[in-house]
Amino acid sequence: MMRLTADELSRFMICSGSHQLQRTVESAGGEVGTVTMEGRTFHWLAEALFKGHDIDSLVGVTPPGEGLAAVTQEMIDHAYEYVTMLHHDGMVEQETSWQTETVYVGGRADYMWYEHATGTLTVADAKYGYRRVSPVMHWPMMSHAIGFAARTGLAVKRLHALIFQPRAYGGEMWSDPWVVDHPPLRSWQLMIENQVTAQPETRAGLHCVYCKAAATCATLGQSVALATDMVAEPYHEVMSGQELAWQLKLTERLEKLVDARRKALVEMATHRIKSGQVVQGFGLKTQLANRSWLPGYDGELLTAALGVDLTKKGVVTPAEAERRGVSKEMVAALTQRAVTGSKLAEIDPNVEVAKIFGEKQP
Ligand code: SF4
Repeated sequence: MMRLTADELSRFMICSGSHQLQRTVESAGGEVGTVTMEGRTFHWLAEALFKGHDIDSLVGVTPPGEGLAAVTQEMIDHAYEYVTMLHHDGMVEQETSWQTETVYVGGRADYMWYEHATGTLTVADAKYGYRRVSPVMHWPMMSHAIGFAARTGLAVKRLHALIFQPRAYGGEMWSDPWVVDHPPLRSWQLMIENQVTAQPETRAGLHCVYCKAAATCATLGQSVALATDMVAEPYHEVMSGQELAWQLKLTERLEKLVDARRKALVEMATHRIKSGQVVQGFGLKTQLANRSWLPGYDGELLTAALGVDLTKKGVVTPAEAERRGVSKEMVAALTQRAVTGSKLAEIDPNVEVAKIFGEKQP
């Protein structure tokens, strides 16, 4: 019997080979990515808030558990946005696992609410990534509905599926709901079973994002080569201001992620080479600092020894002058700051407005 999770169904239903490839990477000790850690932390916060706990003072705290990140104010704000929209008779982190003879699908729904009067099952899912996800044919939520019906024996006469995605590009935090009358739960179950018993194959696409096998997958490698050629094309003049601002933020984040990835790879390669392993095409070269005089050879000694005046006179920096006791006012009157150019920076409109009205910023 194949064991899947509801969360991996979106990928598995398109790329059935991903299941086996990801297991191979996991057994080799794959690491948890930043966005995944942030998503887990957001879910932890939302559950705590839904259950009535105080989350306001948790900024900077890393919740207990594996693969969680430090809480940010933004996560707390998003948790309030999410939880205040949920019906309080609903259930969070609800067990929805189900199984047949060929497959076991483990799952926990972020949020579910069953309205007995109408037989309507509301399933909400929170996504903390940057790309927009549609609730339409969203396999994890479809699986939650299958699991709910199997576990409770209740008839789902209407499925109401919606996704909360506060960081996704463009549009509202909440998706439009996907409403299905008399959802064909048995047919959906059969589709999953058919995919399980079919010959595994890999297919690249948006679902490759966060696939643990991405680093070694040949199918994705081919697609990345194609995408690299496309990215090298010039940017478009027709971009709106909103698109431009979004891409600036996105590329800034990507730059940091790529930088972190590169540093981790360099560290790993260095470690391997030092321990005698081969990293094709790479080796360690000795790095030298700038030249400096031998210890004990100061300016006066060198001048006397070499017959050339090698001493240097100068003035200390304004900061050093302040450290030596000159008042800040005096230093301010005798210093200037030359404009060296201009640099693009994000502007907080609230701070700018406060400056105009002379309000002091914290
Ligand atoms: S990286 Fe993409 S194509 Fe490769 S296994 Fe994962 S989902 Fe499939």
